[in-house]
Amino acid sequence: MTSFDCIVVGSGNAGCCAAFSAAEAGCNKVLIVDVCPPEWVGGNGYFTAGAFRTVHEGLQDLLPIVNNVSAEQAGSIDMDPYTLHDFLGDIMRLGDGKPDPVLAHAVVNASRDTITWLATEVGLPFMFSFHRQAYKVGGRQKFWGGMVLCTEDGGKGLIAAHHRALAKAKVDVWFNCPAVEITTENGAVSGIIVQKDGERLHLRSRAVVLAAGGFEANPELRERHLGPGWERAILRGTPYNQGDGFKLAAALGARQTGDWAGCHSTCWDADAPKDGGERNLTNQFTKSGYPLGIMVNSAGKRFVDEGEDFRNYTYAKFGRAIQNQPRSYVFQVWDSKAIGLLREEEYGDGIVKKIFGDSVEELAEKLVANGLEAKDEFVETVKEFNEAVKSYQAENQDSNWNPAVKDGMSTQKLPLPKSNWALTIDQPPFMAVKVACGITFTFGGLSIDPETAGVISEQSKVIPGLFCTGEMVGLFHKNYPGGSGLMAGAVFGRKAGKAAAKLTSTNA
Ligand SMILES: Cc1cc2nc3c(=O)[nH]c(=O)nc-3n(C[C@H](O)[C@H](O)[C@H](O)COP(=O)(O)OP(=O)(O)OC[C@H]3O[C@@H](n4cnc5c(N)ncnc54)[C@H](O)[C@@H]3O)c2cc1C
Repeated sequence: MTSFDCIVVGSGNAGCCAAFSAAEAGCNKVLIVDVCPPEWVGGNGYFTAGAFRTVHEGLQDLLPIVNNVSAEQAGSIDMDPYTLHDFLGDIMRLGDGKPDPVLAHAVVNASRDTITWLATEVGLPFMFSFHRQAYKVGGRQKFWGGMVLCTEDGGKGLIAAHHRALAKAKVDVWFNCPAVEITTENGAVSGIIVQKDGERLHLRSRAVVLAAGGFEANPELRERHLGPGWERAILRGTPYNQGDGFKLAAALGARQTGDWAGCHSTCWDADAPKDGGERNLTNQFTKSGYPLGIMVNSAGKRFVDEGEDFRNYTYAKFGRAIQNQPRSYVFQVWDSKAIGLLREEEYGDGIVKKIFGDSVEELAEKLVANGLEAKDEFVETVKEFNEAVKSYQAENQDSNWNPAVKDGMSTQKLPLPKSNWALTIDQPPFMAVKVACGITFTFGGLSIDPETAGVISEQSKVIPGLFCTGEMVGLFHKNYPGGSGLMAGAVFGRKAGKAAAKLTSTNA
């Protein structure tokens, strides 16, 4: 039998935060176990863009945290503060008021301090996210959508930095080592049983932190909870998040909460690998250029308001919208005015199959070979869209197209409008890419104490010694503000580590 002060299940961002925090707060022997082989270290965290959403007071507040801005550059950045009220409002608004406000407040309230901790104690290399969250307008970099920070080299840089910090803190990580049971004595956690080298091994610890991700990689659970068809969605990240953590917690009577029918899902390259992310391109299969154009389904119809809000407030729900279309794939379409504004990392040569036409009719013809089933409807949709744009522009001659603000340039005359950034699609070359629904993570989770991340039981009592963080916490509903997943995992991971250290420093 082997004893530890704290055992963390899962080597992603949330698990790393919990393990580092436990070691920092005084646990001598901290272990992370992960079912994956070492080359899959980092769970979904590895596949991220490393985007972290935090409350902040504007440029001067965050300049000391980032490594990619010179004094000269700083003078040409416009960055509005993002307040506690803004962040909390975004989680609640996008979740239709259903997220637990106390839990959401706990994330938001600790977010800024957690960024400082991640930068200075853990050593995450933060940057301003110019390439994803800002547009250059009138010679100035204007940030939009509340989120401004990411880690250098995205999720790859994030996970590498976390594991460097863990090695320094002498935290052990065992791979190929699934947790299969949590043991208890007198109602309190006493350890876990893992499968290691073909044997069941009992590891003793009075503190266990569950950070084992959701059930997004499990087609059977997806179909059961999210609904028919979801078993076919494309998996964006790790194939190892099979919902194990929920089984382990259920055996101890943990209460489930949150949106078990909901998930985060996005526009994803229809040709991407189906059953798990690709460790070289990672998040580059994301296709988030739709606010600059339109999306049309295989029946030749638009189906969402592409300009409803900034991309990072709509992208996590548009995957579901695509999933619900006939054949569950659609086409993103632009003309030459917008093609140059698409992000190189997502739409560069060799990254995605790009379909070009010199006229809308020619593009439609080529799309037929790629799954478009209604060529004439497609052409008609583009025509109607262009007429509605022109009509708006004729009535609003002083309006200016600006992707960095909600510019109100709309097609409100259409039954399904595009509310911002509406430009005609009428100048060749025309370009389309085919996208499908990529599932990121599931929203259903466990109920936790917002201060300690202690898991709450069906009887509304904290289960002594059991903590939870990351995707396994039932926080988000229906939609989510981009960059909140890493932040929520960091906040509750840090709290769980501290609480674990406090518990194990007391006498049994
Ligand atoms: C392509 C992509 C891009 C994303 N971009 C962003 C972004 O920029 N910003 C953001 O905030 N969020 C982003 N997300 C979401 C983000 O990845 C998650 O919110 C976050 O990483 C979840 O962290 P976690 O530690 O809970 O889970 P994970 O990082 O998935 O870690 C869970 C770990 O648990 C392990 N595990 C599972 N079962 C067991 C078991 N039985 N025993 C032991 N180990 C087990 C898994 O192998 C895995 O390593 C993105 C996700 C994807 C897929």
